[in-house]
Amino acid sequence: MTNFHILTIFRNIFSDYFFEGVIGKAQNKGLINIHTYDLRNYAEDKHKSVDDYIFGGGSMIFKPEPIFNAVEDLLKNNIPDNSKKCIILLSPQGQQLNHNLAQKIAEFEDIVMICGRYEGVDERVRENLVTHEISIGDYVLTGGELPSMVLIDVVSRLIPGVVGSKDSVDEDSFAKGLIEHPQYTRPSVFRDWKVPEVLLSGNHKEILKWRRQESLRKTFYRRPDLLDSIKLSEEDILFIDKLKSEKEY
Ligand code: SAM
Repeated sequence: MTNFHILTIFRNIFSDYFFEGVIGKAQNKGLINIHTYDLRNYAEDKHKSVDDYIFGGGSMIFKPEPIFNAVEDLLKNNIPDNSKKCIILLSPQGQQLNHNLAQKIAEFEDIVMICGRYEGVDERVRENLVTHEISIGDYVLTGGELPSMVLIDVVSRLIPGVVGSKDSVDEDSFAKGLIEHPQYTRPSVFRDWKVPEVLLSGNHKEILKWRRQESLRKTFYRRPDLLDSIKLSEEDILFIDKLKSEKEY
């Protein structure tokens, strides 16, 4: 069982998303558990304030005390000492999320996520509390709630049993370092557009070959950078050479 612990000032944001679809089912099956905690409950003043002005000028950021209090309370009361755990700050300054990073995060049993707001968090959180700082892309959102949902969704799909067929996760884009091949369903002819013949042939070997080549083709045209970091067979290399000569022509 993987436990996700979200620290936020907007707990209501999460309710619908996590009760639907694959993530909802994974919770019902007891494969994952998602807990949200209101950071204001860990504030130290009577107004439950979590933010303050930035020294030197600027608007507001999260104060360190509520965040440290919340994480320390979780570690004391909600997360067993021997659990494999990580404390993640969602932040545009962090390591960019991708399939490999998601796989590493999926190995933890307790995953604490701090959702920033305003102009972010006091730097001492970054320096002294978190084990990972993760970004979902080079753009700035208003808060860490959407990034934490993205992270939970991506990581959950990699936990055995969450997605019905393991094969479909293994075939997904990036799982094997390539973009997924094209996929079709019925009808086999729609508005004169035909599904490739080989997919209707029932010839499993030929279908696998077609899938591999179309996967290579898509990757070659859309994300050639990915081809540098995967192991290619001789057959793959010949196919890519053919694509290169077609492109030059
Ligand atoms: N001033 C900060 C900076 O330039 O790095 C941005 C603060 S942003 C308005 C508020 C919060 O949204 C951040 O603390 C972070 O939790 C979250 N956030 C925004 N963009 C994000 C991204 N691309 N990835 C992950 N978290 C993000």
